[in-house]
Amino acid sequence: MKLLVVEDESKMADYVRQGLMEAGFIVDLARNGLDGHMMAMNERYDLIILDVMLSGMDGWRILQAMRASGVQVPVLFLTARSSVDDRVRGLELGADDYLTKPFAFSELLARVRTLLRRGNAPTHHDRIQIADLELDLARRRATRAGRRINLTNKEFALLELLARRRSEVLPRSLIASQIWDMNFASDTNVIDVAIRRLRAKIDDDFEPKLIQTVRGMGYTLDIPDEG
Ligand code: CA
Repeated sequence: MKLLVVEDESKMADYVRQGLMEAGFIVDLARNGLDGHMMAMNERYDLIILDVMLSGMDGWRILQAMRASGVQVPVLFLTARSSVDDRVRGLELGADDYLTKPFAFSELLARVRTLLRRGNAPTHHDRIQIADLELDLARRRATRAGRRINLTNKEFALLELLARRRSEVLPRSLIASQIWDMNFASDTNVIDVAIRRLRAKIDDDFEPKLIQTVRGMGYTLDIPDEG
């Protein structure tokens, strides 16, 4: 599942992002309203967590613009405001839920899971199939040739990232930032080790091999070209 967090308060943004990544979600972060608006309109997300008070463009306007263009992704508003008027306004504009700061992370996670379960997320996100590899994104399960593959949260997130961006070569730095919240300066050996473990689970006993190393560039997942 891929989420967008739009939050301009950097501590809060990092806290929310980190927690969601640890829970196994792929998380994009926008640190101001304009970036958030652009990403919400151009990328596909399963859920957007949207702060109300934002620099550049506030959460109300982002939500309004999204709904006006038919973007139906579920939105959870996050705000310091707690007045009933604000809550009503958010819901009228098409927010799906509303959480007032400060909140416990467990509360946020529970609401996120409820919204995702409600089935507002577009159904084409539910499954990805590449050759005989199948990812059930809602239940976070992977099978290959019909056999269930046991993956950790991180392994599933890594596989999901590769599968969503099938045939794109993903640099280690991108994988690091999306799955481990590390920057490129960090030890990218972590990525290689994780890929090796993932390969052992999804490729070692099967043909064709789907995870490919592109020397000097990164990794990609696809059905290899014949010959
Ligand atoms: Ca804010």
